[in-house]
Amino acid sequence: MKAWLHRGTYHASSIRDRNAAIQVARRCIYGHKQLRRFAPEAVEDPDVLPLALIRDRDNLSEVISRWDEANVRYRPVSRAEAEKIIPDASFRKVSGIFQVGDVSLNTRILYRKLFALAQKAGCDFYLGSEIEKIDGRSLIVRDSSGDRRTFSARKIVYSSGIGAKDLFQKHHGLNLPIRYWKSHLVVTKRLAQAGVFFLDPHEAAMMHHGDVSIVGFNEDALLCNEPSYDVIPDRAENLRRGIRRIFPSWDDRQSINVACVKVDYVTDLMSARSLNIAINEPIPGHVLVLPGKMTEAPYLTDVLTSYIHEQLDNPEIALRPCDQFPLQDSTAIREVA
Ligand SMILES: Cc1cc2nc3c(=O)[nH]c(=O)nc-3n(C[C@H](O)[C@H](O)[C@H](O)COP(=O)(O)OP(=O)(O)OC[C@H]3O[C@@H](n4cnc5c(N)ncnc54)[C@H](O)[C@@H]3O)c2cc1C
Repeated sequence: MKAWLHRGTYHASSIRDRNAAIQVARRCIYGHKQLRRFAPEAVEDPDVLPLALIRDRDNLSEVISRWDEANVRYRPVSRAEAEKIIPDASFRKVSGIFQVGDVSLNTRILYRKLFALAQKAGCDFYLGSEIEKIDGRSLIVRDSSGDRRTFSARKIVYSSGIGAKDLFQKHHGLNLPIRYWKSHLVVTKRLAQAGVFFLDPHEAAMMHHGDVSIVGFNEDALLCNEPSYDVIPDRAENLRRGIRRIFPSWDDRQSINVACVKVDYVTDLMSARSLNIAINEPIPGHVLVLPGKMTEAPYLTDVLTSYIHEQLDNPEIALRPCDQFPLQDSTAIREVA
C-alpha cells in the first residue's frame, strides 16, 4: 500500500480552507517528525527528496505563503536542476518546482516495530477474531476456531478504519456520519529515483517503494455508498494520462490499476472530504478514532491519550491547583483572587 510520510506539502495547498489546510499540514509535520524519530529504519531513500510541482501560476504565491505559515520545508528548484534530478520527466507547462521533505515509508517495517514493542509492553493481539456481540461495555470476541472471550473495559476504542461504520451499525444500531470515498492508484515499475507530484487537482502524484512506483490522482475521490474495490475504467485512464503528462515515454506494460476506499467522519455531509483527525464517543464508553491520514496518527494518539486520561482519572496523581479551580464556589474564588 502507498505510504507517503507527508510533511504538510500537499495538504497545505490542497485543502480549500486556508486555516484547515494549515492545521492539517502542521499535524502532518508533527507526525512526520515523530515517525521518523520512532522508526528511521522504515524511511525509504531518506536522502532522496521528492519534487513538488505547481502548474497553476495564479496559485503559486498562496501555496508558498501557506507553506511558510505551516512551516513546510521547501526549496525552489530551476527547470534545469529538476531535469538533472529526474531526466525522464517533463517539466514543460510547470510554473513552480520545489524540492520538499516528504518521504516514502515502509509501513511493514513500522508495523513490525510497533507490534513488537506493544507485545513487550503487555498488549495482546487477537488476529483473525471478530466481535460477536457487544453488551454494555463488554465485548464477546470469537476467534477463527470458534472460541469466545469476553473483554470488559471502561473505554473501548475502535480504530477500525473502513470497518467502523458497520461495527456501530451492527452492534449499536447507530448510523454514524462516516462516508466512503473511492479513488484509484496505478502501481507500475519504478519511474524515477526521486518522487514527483503535482499539487494541482486532477494531476498525478507519485512516490516510490523499492522497485515500484505508486501513483495517485489528486482530488480523484468519488463519494460512494458502500466500500467497493471495482476499478472505474474512465478514472483509471485519467490517472494514466496524468502519469504521461509527467513521464511522456512511460512504458505502461508492467502496471496495474487499483481502486481503494478511504473514509472520513463528518457532521456536515455536504462538506469536502475531511483529512483531519476525528475522535468521537457516540455511545458512552465506545470511542471511535480516525486519523485522516496515516501521517496524522501520532497527533491523533496524543490527543486520544489525553482524552482517555481526562475521562479515566487516576486519583493517586495529585490534582493541580487549576484542576481544583472550577470546584470552588464563586465566593471562595473571589476571596482567593
Ligand atoms: C489507498 C490508500 C492510500 C493511502 N495513502 C496514504 C499515504 O500515503 N499517507 C498517509 O499518511 N495516509 C495514507 N492513507 C490514509 C491512511 O491509510 C489511513 O488514514 C490510516 O490507515 C487509517 O488508520 P486506521 O487505523 O484508522 O485504519 P486502518 O489503517 O484502515 O486500520 C483499520 C484496521 O481495523 C481492522 N478492522 C476493520 N473492521 C474490523 C472489525 N469489525 N473487527 C476487527 N478489526 C477490524 C482492519 O482490518 C484494519 O486492520 C491512504 C489510505 C488508502 C486507502
